[in-house]
Amino acid sequence: MTSLDELPIRDDLRGQHPYGAPQLEVRYALNVNENTHPVPEAVARDIVESLAQAVLGVNRYPDREFTELREALAAYLGHGLSAEQLWAANGSNEVIQQLLQAFGGPGRSVLGFPPSYSMHSIIAAGTGTRWLTAERDADYEISPGTAAAAVERLKPDIVFLCAPNNPTGTGVPLATIEAAYDATDGIVMVDEAYAEFMPADAPSALSLLPGRERLVVSRTMSKAFAFAGARVGYLAAAPAVIDALRLVRLPYHLSALTQAAAVAALRHADEMLSTVADIAAQRDRLERELTALGYRVLPSQANFVLVEGFADPRATFEALLAQSILVRDVGIPGTLRITAGTAEETGVVIRAIAGLGPGGAR
Ligand code: PMP
Repeated sequence: MTSLDELPIRDDLRGQHPYGAPQLEVRYALNVNENTHPVPEAVARDIVESLAQAVLGVNRYPDREFTELREALAAYLGHGLSAEQLWAANGSNEVIQQLLQAFGGPGRSVLGFPPSYSMHSIIAAGTGTRWLTAERDADYEISPGTAAAAVERLKPDIVFLCAPNNPTGTGVPLATIEAAYDATDGIVMVDEAYAEFMPADAPSALSLLPGRERLVVSRTMSKAFAFAGARVGYLAAAPAVIDALRLVRLPYHLSALTQAAAVAALRHADEMLSTVADIAAQRDRLERELTALGYRVLPSQANFVLVEGFADPRATFEALLAQSILVRDVGIPGTLRITAGTAEETGVVIRAIAGLGPGGAR
């Protein structure tokens, strides 16, 4: 058997690690920030009808411009956006990859603020874009001054800001996004995968798009929208940015079935999002009840919390797994990340942690 090291693989991929959130059969999967509520049955039936129609036409290639989906996404986002400002792909990971294919690549760099979403650096590696990092302020915040100073010092071609940030849940003020934008001539991408969970008074970076032709806001149907398995992510930006993405996308990258399913789901946006308020309440409950148990829970604007205070996160991870509860060890010392699920799931994980005793140790 040939090992990877013996293959003539690109030098810059040697020693890299693939994305690796464990996929295990468990009763309580609270590790990848999905919406754990199933798709409502009536909505599922309507999606199936749309899929059946689409299947009758799969002898033909799909609409390469997925016009109906882009119109539906523009209507969903509001903010005065039109279809020509929208782009979609198979998950926001693919949208981000296309962005780096167009604006990054060999000889170019992208700046991130770790700890953040692990795929950002992996997509940088895959596209041959140099990955630069800068420090956050206390409690994982990024002030406008911190963002601007890092951009001015490192001069990246692209800046990634994750708002709210995965894995910490930290919000990013609009002033920070504006400061990063003003400090560069490059692209600024705000990854808003968890935007629907933000408090009502926390504005989206979408509101900054008018007049900022280098700003990109990525979103996904994988989280609040309960559509992770369908693989639909998207972004909003100036029409010229969309033109750039057309240069790198593979023709017909969004299948007719994906387009049909996504358009049908967006017709039911209200029902698909009806669980968001409850999930946010479960997130706040995790914060309250785990704080009462002696942990420090970082304030979160997303559907998960980062919990500090585990004496041995790996041991706690295993102890929870033994009870069929899967959480995430993101490698930040002393912490675990937990997705806010249903009231039942949230109760189960809180009781299990309480049962482990102080610091999550038996
Ligand atoms: N951005 C962030 C911040 C995420 O946490 C995730 C999923 N974990 C994604 C993007 C990608 O999600 P998807 O490809 O399913 O849209």
